Amino acid sequence: MNNKQKIYFFSQTQTDGDQNMVDVLGGKGANIAEMCKLGLPVPPGFTLATSLCSDYLKNKSLSLSLKNNIKKNVVKTGGMIGKTFGESNPLLLSVRSGAPVSMPGMMETILNIGLTSKTIPFMIDASKNEGFVYDSYRRLIMMYADVVMEKALNLNKSSRPIRELMEKELDSVKKAKGYKSDSSMGAKDWKSLSEKYLKIVEKEFGVPFPDDHYEQLFGAVAAVFESWNGKRAKEYRSFERISSAMGTAVNVQAMVFGNLGKDCGTGVAFTRNPSTGENVFFGEWLPNAQGEDVVAGIRTPHPIAGDVKNKKSLSIAMPKAFEELSEVRKRLENHFDDMQDIEFTIQENKLWMLQTRRGKRSGIAAIKIATDMVKEKLITKKVAVGRVQPLQIYESLLKNIVPEDLEKHLPVSLGLPAGPGSSCGAAVFSAEKAESLGKEGKKVILIREETSPEDIHGMHYAEGILTSRGGLTSHAALVARGWGKSCVVGCQDLSIDKNLKFAKISGIKIKEGDQITLNGSSGDIYLGSLRLFQNPLDNTGPLSELLSWADKIRKLKIRTNADTPEDCKRALDFGAEGVGLCRTEHMFFDEKRVHEFRKMILAEDEKSRSSYLKNLLPFQTKDFYKIFKKMDGMPVTVRLLDPPLHEFINIHSREMKNLAVDMGLQLKTVEERVESLKEANPMLGHRGCRLGVSYPEITSMQANAIIGAAAKLKKEGKNPRVEVMIPLVSNLEEFLHQKNIVLKAKNEILGDSGLKIGLKIGTMIEVPRACLVASEIAKHADFFSFGTNDLTQTTFGFSRDDTGTFFPNYFNEEILLVDPFEQIDRKGVGKLMKMAVKDARATKNKISIGICGEHGGEPNSIGFCKILGLDYVSCSPYRVPIARLAAAQVEL
Ligand code: PEP
Ligand code: MG
Repeated sequence: MNNKQKIYFFSQTQTDGDQNMVDVLGGKGANIAEMCKLGLPVPPGFTLATSLCSDYLKNKSLSLSLKNNIKKNVVKTGGMIGKTFGESNPLLLSVRSGAPVSMPGMMETILNIGLTSKTIPFMIDASKNEGFVYDSYRRLIMMYADVVMEKALNLNKSSRPIRELMEKELDSVKKAKGYKSDSSMGAKDWKSLSEKYLKIVEKEFGVPFPDDHYEQLFGAVAAVFESWNGKRAKEYRSFERISSAMGTAVNVQAMVFGNLGKDCGTGVAFTRNPSTGENVFFGEWLPNAQGEDVVAGIRTPHPIAGDVKNKKSLSIAMPKAFEELSEVRKRLENHFDDMQDIEFTIQENKLWMLQTRRGKRSGIAAIKIATDMVKEKLITKKVAVGRVQPLQIYESLLKNIVPEDLEKHLPVSLGLPAGPGSSCGAAVFSAEKAESLGKEGKKVILIREETSPEDIHGMHYAEGILTSRGGLTSHAALVARGWGKSCVVGCQDLSIDKNLKFAKISGIKIKEGDQITLNGSSGDIYLGSLRLFQNPLDNTGPLSELLSWADKIRKLKIRTNADTPEDCKRALDFGAEGVGLCRTEHMFFDEKRVHEFRKMILAEDEKSRSSYLKNLLPFQTKDFYKIFKKMDGMPVTVRLLDPPLHEFINIHSREMKNLAVDMGLQLKTVEERVESLKEANPMLGHRGCRLGVSYPEITSMQANAIIGAAAKLKKEGKNPRVEVMIPLVSNLEEFLHQKNIVLKAKNEILGDSGLKIGLKIGTMIEVPRACLVASEIAKHADFFSFGTNDLTQTTFGFSRDDTGTFFPNYFNEEILLVDPFEQIDRKGVGKLMKMAVKDARATKNKISIGICGEHGGEPNSIGFCKILGLDYVSCSPYRVPIARLAAAQVEL
């Protein structure tokens, strides 16, 4: 393909591309083309296809034929609006990146390209506004110096970024003249500042600022391509797991100006509220400003559709433009059937649309918008179910501040509520600190003046983000919302020490490490750590509505991993259809019980063990009774004891003494016993069914408790559906050994009472050998449940408890792209699972098969479980709603 076909022209009257060409034109370019096709007012221009990015990155230069083709398109662009690049009545251009997937703020933009010593006088003549022209020129110099000369060409040898030097220069001019804001700067000020900037460029980079319009344009295009491999773009891609192969497109477009005077402005808006989902026009604008002023948060913007009293809102200040924009809002939503995030400029009262894209939104907003749009007949229920990301549901159930704490504490200040949910942690003032502490598992709040995309790695590790500048559409807000992070921006009472050691909020000093709490939904900021809680599922709201639609679509059943009646209640509220895993060892975590449990483990012979077990029996029976009752009529899988013993015998000396007294043993004997139970590899040691084989009386006690509880409920007219699950089986004989004990208990309890309980006996499939001999085990098992935590551990040979020490290197080196403990490794672990399912079903067609490892609540893995033909997934209560939606999406 030649270069000609790789450049796509767009204007209100002629357009080469459309919205379906995202891979070629990038998201921004495809949507600009679509807006042109709709006849919306879009400044003309052209898009360089993404494939040109990889060409550039290979050759590190733009070919002559590409340059010639760009020139032709520039001429055509100017022709549409009667302007010429580099000549009188000069055309100025913007150059922006636009990848096939949205990477907000991660890449580059250069505005006002084409201002040179030759065109500046023409521009002054045409605009009759010298101040505007030099303001535009100094912006060009700064953006170009930063993006092209410093980042792409790497010309800066000093440690200080060029932007910082230039911003300092602007501040000192303002200070010297006593100006409070940029708007006080006059033509002379901007002109002399531009001259200073030119000198700074020459001094810092050793080369002059390019004074040729095409040199500027080609430099900018190349730099945007180059930015695809810039540090922050790479970082963003790696967090978001975006492939590096796609490359970015480049959009070259005729400039329109929001900073020509009072009848001009620029803004960013969402067609609905991106935090709450409310169907209101939501956004911010600045009069007499260029686009970057709004998102960079340098000036605090005004609302688009404010209340009637707010004279600065666009609807009051420029009603005609507002009306036109409202019409565009309606057309865009109707056309794209989704909430849009738009950028616009008003030049001399005329509205220009610069961008539209699918608006990022909070989890709550995603659910509300999807369900509202069904009611508005814009989309179907199926589309609505497919549109919300499962993890957004989780986010909608995010943390909030406990109400009593809210009453007791007054916020120290208020910012803009940019990312919902509350967060609490230690204050840090740099992304680096946030990352290093976050990696240690500490909870931190990242506090910055404004977040730049360079802060992305720190934001990732922070619980919450707080900034002193910026608006709701600033980068901090966009990224935080996308990640479901609690975020408060634009807190004007906040100032941060230059050395990043402390901050002051409303005059109160906050040192690094001090606790701070944010409410990202209201914008309130609190000193100290307030308690947080998470919302239960609202049974009548948009989320339950959406999930009820999902339930009609999905085929996979959703169970929960629950060890207590309280867990069961929560999971039922979230829509669980049974318990897929009740870890009985978790029932002994309580202080009193763990003492009894330890006595049982440390018992020296069967007789004394049995007597200790007798003490545990009533606890267990009561627990199971409550759980079965709560889950009446639904399957409950109770797993027999599977404690890695080291978790229970890590005993301090006081408890050791108590045990000795209680057990009537010498302290030394207890110590020796504890010592003898220690293992070199406890995760591969005396756990799971191996315990039950060594100590059959444990299995027997548990079976008695389970069946006893079920029998009691049955007598009370309830319908317990009990599944007893044997853990860590690798061998049919192990399974049969344990199964027989359970059957014996059943016979003993039920005898010939005539009482019938629904009892199934099955096994975890969590070691590779169990997968290999699945057909043999299936003959004797009523069900299988994949324990993918252990199956991942034993398939890779990665210790579950120790991956933190080496996984970071594996991710850095891209040896692993995702954590296999989070998402099922389809290639290896998945292959074993597939084989086990196939062999088991070949033996016993109807055998029930599920999953209860952590992967059961992870959307991608749920997709894989569907492919495998599992009957259900089981996950922690909070993930049940995620699983319900993910399981429906698999079917779509
Ligand atoms: C598993 O191994 O996947 C499992 C569910 O068991 P546990 O996490 O308790 O070892
Ligand atoms: Mg396990």
